[in-house]
Amino acid sequence: MKEIILIKNGELALKGLNRSTFEDMLVGNIRRRLKGLGDFEVRKSQSTIMVEPGEDFDLEEACGRIGKVFGIAGYSRAAAAPKEMERMLAAAAEYLAPTLGSVRTFKVEAKRSDKNFPLRSPEICAQAGGYLLSRFKNLSVDVRNPDFTVMIEVRDRYIYIHGPQIRGAGGMPTGSSGRGAVLISGGIDSPVAAWMMAKRGLALSAVHFASPPYTSPMAEKKVQDLLSRVARYSGRVALFTVPFTEIQETIRDRCPEEFFTLVMRRMMMRIAGIVAQKDNCSALITGESLGQVASQTVYALGCTDAVAQMPVLRPLIGMDKDEIVRISRKIDTFELSSLPYEDCCTVFTPRHPRTRPTVAQLEKVESAVAWDEMIARAVADTKFKMIY
Ligand code: ATP
Ligand code: MG
Repeated sequence: MKEIILIKNGELALKGLNRSTFEDMLVGNIRRRLKGLGDFEVRKSQSTIMVEPGEDFDLEEACGRIGKVFGIAGYSRAAAAPKEMERMLAAAAEYLAPTLGSVRTFKVEAKRSDKNFPLRSPEICAQAGGYLLSRFKNLSVDVRNPDFTVMIEVRDRYIYIHGPQIRGAGGMPTGSSGRGAVLISGGIDSPVAAWMMAKRGLALSAVHFASPPYTSPMAEKKVQDLLSRVARYSGRVALFTVPFTEIQETIRDRCPEEFFTLVMRRMMMRIAGIVAQKDNCSALITGESLGQVASQTVYALGCTDAVAQMPVLRPLIGMDKDEIVRISRKIDTFELSSLPYEDCCTVFTPRHPRTRPTVAQLEKVESAVAWDEMIARAVADTKFKMIY
């Protein structure tokens, strides 16, 4: 029996004039994500997107991937039956047999998008209900609170038969909000922040600061692995790895210890802004959460923002650690994030960091060093890798 995937858009429905552009974007994203699973066709029809498998298509894996595409509210696997009642009913009984044989109550809901089909929705429901009752002796009808609802949709080419919708990843199609660069560290927070902003429609680039030999190649590998988990949702991520050793050593040698972290974070912001702008990003994303550490007080955030050339999005700002951990488990980054590799943030950490710094203090501290050349060198030596 021919089986397809029926996809319902999420917030897309609300977008008025932009709707068609958004839908096209979603269709493109779905196509890209199903690549490599065999022959298939993706098409739009009456506010539904359909994935029609050809030869050798891995439908099981396709459903798994579709469950992670942003912009999808829900989806279902459905049997595609000919547009003729008797054959459709036989197909429904066969397709749904495993479920209908094991529940006690059911109801049928029908939707007729093809208004040329001779039966109207209530008639389709009545005929299908009667037929299924005669085929499955264990069943009775319960329209209020059924164990299972059979959906019948009469559309352009086929009648589609399916059970309840599976919930999609929600959000907006990746790319529909532009592009943002996440500052990714290998910790728990930044991959979650990246995922949250991708969910709101940002395509992702990523900037990682590495300070060899203080940080190991394993830490860079970990960041790549984390991003490929995020990419299951967001699609490919452009990763820029910035050599940060020279700047960190200079901070250690030339700045007062209590300002180490803040100067470092301001340097990160400057460099990330330059790299992000070159890659057509319109925002930076960080995994900061208010008060989590000394560099994440409102005063400290003010000092970092003062050097940012674009908006800094901090989706975790009001979240507790356990809420962040819950998401990281859900998107399968938690175990990887918990691997113990040194991050550049944890080398040269001050014993008593400033918690109420001011921009003026930082500008004074930084004025002792010519940073611009060092920043330019770090940008020039940045390595690029596309993460899938
Ligand atoms: P995470 O769990 O994401 O590492 P964190 O709670 O450890 O975050 P910090 O180490 O203070 O917090 O870093 C705050 C944010 O700064 C991170 O969420 C990340 O966005 C960015 N960041 C930290 N270290 C790096 C790094 N090596 N490269 C790029 N960005 C970084
Ligand atoms: Mg960190």
